[in-house]
Amino acid sequence: MFKPTFRAGGLGALLLGGALAHSAAPLPLSAVAPPSRQFGLPFAGVPGPDTWLLGQGYGNTTGSYRQRRSTYGNLQGIHAGLDFSAPCGTPVRAIGDGRVAEVDGTHGSPPHNVVIDHAGNLSSLYGHLRVRSSVRVGQQVRRGQVIGESGDSQFTCVSAPHLHLELRDRSHQRFFNPVPYIAADWDTLALAGGFGRGYEYDLDQPRRWQTPDTQPGALRGGPLLNEFRRPWPPAPGGAR
Ligand SMILES: [Zn+2]
Repeated sequence: MFKPTFRAGGLGALLLGGALAHSAAPLPLSAVAPPSRQFGLPFAGVPGPDTWLLGQGYGNTTGSYRQRRSTYGNLQGIHAGLDFSAPCGTPVRAIGDGRVAEVDGTHGSPPHNVVIDHAGNLSSLYGHLRVRSSVRVGQQVRRGQVIGESGDSQFTCVSAPHLHLELRDRSHQRFFNPVPYIAADWDTLALAGGFGRGYEYDLDQPRRWQTPDTQPGALRGGPLLNEFRRPWPPAPGGAR
């Protein structure tokens, strides 16, 4: 087995540092803060049809199952964030104190997005923002501070207006269920909208991954988690 050796200092260390900065190795789970409800919701005020509602959950949703080999194929077939339905232009707030790491970076969720780095090697991504955020990379933000306005993944503001919120490790290789990280009355919030009722069943293990707070983490590029032998509901048209 080839075992590289590195000398401290000099050009070698400089090159190594640069290579590490651009490497895509996921952080070890032990380096990432576990969930302790340390974050808040990305919207203020009372949820409702005119404000914001929970839409698609994080995880093994029926929607992501049906697109597990396409849209979500690189995320183990998992909807790697939480969707909050909201009219376009609803103020989006930082879920925790942190530093703006990216504005319209390379992490998808168009047309506009923001990434904030937090303590514990966690990063939050706010996706499908309507317009480019006015926050700047490097800027410190506080929990609850408005960092953008919500938009629509299909750019129309009438077809699918929602915020896509992700919680990642800082290397952007691991994706975590935001639910146990965010202090909220999820049971009450879930009474309205489709949240918590749209998970794909594996009839061989029908209770697994069926609630908003029991969803698996995802690793970029990992194998599909929901390539079920007996899925329910079946995909439209009989396709699996
Ligand atoms: Zn989403």
